[in-house]
Amino acid sequence: MRHNLVRDIDGRRSFHVIVLEDITERRKAEQELRYLANYDTLTSLPNRALASERLARAIVRARREGRLVAVLFLDLDRFKDINDSLGHAVGDRVLRAAAERVQQAVGPQHTVARLGGDEFTVILEGLSSTDEAEELARQVLAAFEMPLRLDERREVAMAPSVGISLYPQHALLPTELLKHADTAMYQAKAAGRSTYQLYSARMDEQTRHRATLASTLRKIEFDDELSLVYQPRYSLVDRRVVGVEALVRWHSSEFGLVSPSQFIPLAEETGLILEMGEWVLRQACRTLQSWRGHGQEDLCLSVNVSAIQLQRGDLSGLLVRVLDETGVRPGQLELELTESAVMGNVAANAALLRACRDQGVGLAIDDFGTGYSSLAYLKRLPLTTLKVDREFVRDLTLDPDDEAITSTIIAMGHSLSLKVVAEGVESRGQLQFLHEHGCDEIQGHLVAPALEPDACLRFLQKAARGAH
Ligand code: C2E
Ligand code: MG
Ligand code: MG
Repeated sequence: MRHNLVRDIDGRRSFHVIVLEDITERRKAEQELRYLANYDTLTSLPNRALASERLARAIVRARREGRLVAVLFLDLDRFKDINDSLGHAVGDRVLRAAAERVQQAVGPQHTVARLGGDEFTVILEGLSSTDEAEELARQVLAAFEMPLRLDERREVAMAPSVGISLYPQHALLPTELLKHADTAMYQAKAAGRSTYQLYSARMDEQTRHRATLASTLRKIEFDDELSLVYQPRYSLVDRRVVGVEALVRWHSSEFGLVSPSQFIPLAEETGLILEMGEWVLRQACRTLQSWRGHGQEDLCLSVNVSAIQLQRGDLSGLLVRVLDETGVRPGQLELELTESAVMGNVAANAALLRACRDQGVGLAIDDFGTGYSSLAYLKRLPLTTLKVDREFVRDLTLDPDDEAITSTIIAMGHSLSLKVVAEGVESRGQLQFLHEHGCDEIQGHLVAPALEPDACLRFLQKAARGAH
């Protein structure tokens, strides 16, 4: 309602003009706008703007009351794979179900917000210790131990990596707190996913170091700083060494020896892995070929291949070229891909892998058991080998769960006519268990560590003499 007082020219007589207007529509529109500006329409959670506002207010209260505020930064592990393989509609359901899980885990008194994509944040207020924040992070992770229910028929296993930052220890400003929690989340992912990490100033140092490594890596001459070492594979069936796995090493003139677990992810992020992978394949095939004259006619060669090479490179074209150039027989070569690399987009990857398999090249799933492969997926891929992850092999003879997992993987692999290789075998006890459960091949320090080419050839020749 608007109300105006109107006077005549000489200012004496006055009229009241009252304008009535129905504003329910306008108010509704305003409310809708406010909602859109502050909430995420998919999950109905507060969005980034509202989260920042609430965080700012939480900080003011915490300062007054001498309490802590914790910011949790959550990112769903391998969400992109789900989205790519099952479609966006399913991806949306996963996000809604995940949002509900998080809110249930922390309770209604704390703010859960969606920042965008598969990123969520939780603002925990009224805390009196760091332990309380960690306990709530553990509760969030525990809430994801059960798969998410999407509808009556479908469930997906999904878990977040969580980073934590605290007011006032780590920062005083909302933006800084969010940044630190994000940094900590990245460390949680690097530490093996589905875990949480508390921010520390050292992490910024590591992030900077990563950036420096990445830019240095981009500039190196592969021939100068990269080299390959070879780790023998021993057949429990034939009782002899039957192959080697090529593993790349970076001897940096600036940083010394850098582990592939550190620089392969960097090469993947920058796309450099395409060139590097080609260098590795060519180099490994050349070495294998050079060993032929030394009595190693039937030796097999395994080469690790990154998901990026499969999806963005022309892997089967590269194989044709390198095999032709080096004279290595396709049957001697096996490519190792990690589980998460191929399970992402099974239909597309199956076709790409088929093109390699059709040339006669073997295909192995590396680090098997750490991802979320299902039997149905495995059946659709033209595989030849499963490599049981080191993690399960490590505690064989100590942990009954790992024993059950390993023997199940062996049986499952065999039922799909796949060869099963155990990685990281270090003790006789592990060997015995694997032998008794019909594992085909082993690889690990018990047989030999990864060796320089010359040392590896000597090892192979000695092993051949011993076998006769
Ligand atoms: P991976 O393919 O699963 O390789 C096995 C890793 O386990 C190697 O580490 C090897 O040195 C280590 N290992 C072997 N036996 C034992 C053992 O008995 N005990 C223990 N504790 N460890 C053992 P490395 O060489 O550091 O490689 C780490 C990962 O880096 C590889 O895991 C692979 O995923 C990746 N990688 C290595 N070379 C390449 C490459 O040329 N291309 C790509 N895309 N990835 C590579
Ligand atoms: Mg491997
Ligand atoms: Mg492996």
